[in-house]
Amino acid sequence: MILLYPGSFDPPHLGHLDLIRRAASLAEQVVVGVGVNPDKQSLLGDRVREQLLRDACAAHANVRVATYTGATLAFARSLGARALLRGIRGGTDLENETTMATIHRRLGLDTVFLLADDAHAHLSGRAVRLARSAGLPLDGLVSPAVAAALNSAAR
Ligand code: ADP
Repeated sequence: MILLYPGSFDPPHLGHLDLIRRAASLAEQVVVGVGVNPDKQSLLGDRVREQLLRDACAAHANVRVATYTGATLAFARSLGARALLRGIRGGTDLENETTMATIHRRLGLDTVFLLADDAHAHLSGRAVRLARSAGLPLDGLVSPAVAAALNSAAR
């Protein structure tokens, strides 16, 4: 089974990596899809996010990383993905994910949810971006490679 894990990954953080690692042990193949939205300003460029994820996932032979634009459903179909993978940190994620998962299911694409690990449930791209702009240390939130990329990104 191919699972597509879509997201903005701006930046990729330890919560994302934990989910990818766990999914890689469940599915035959996991495709991490870095969604590119030309109308939305991201902190890290899409090629940078893609490369950071690729490096972080190099140890998993059944994980590959790709960028995509447009609808997640169309990208999933182009890959032959059986389902989407999404992480649930708590009630708000579940509520937010329910609508999209229901629509995707009606269109023939299921969603697999994995609960965030306790150690990472507080982590989000927004939290990392806030920590960075406040000048807080980023260890425990992102890998050293991602911290270096964030430190060299334009402020
Ligand atoms: P974020 O919400 O951190 O900015 P994205 O918007 O790129 O990340 O989300 C991509 C997917 O990763 C979503 O399904 C989201 O629920 C999941 N995710 C985000 N943070 C975590 C975490 N700490 N643990 C597990 N899953 C997570």
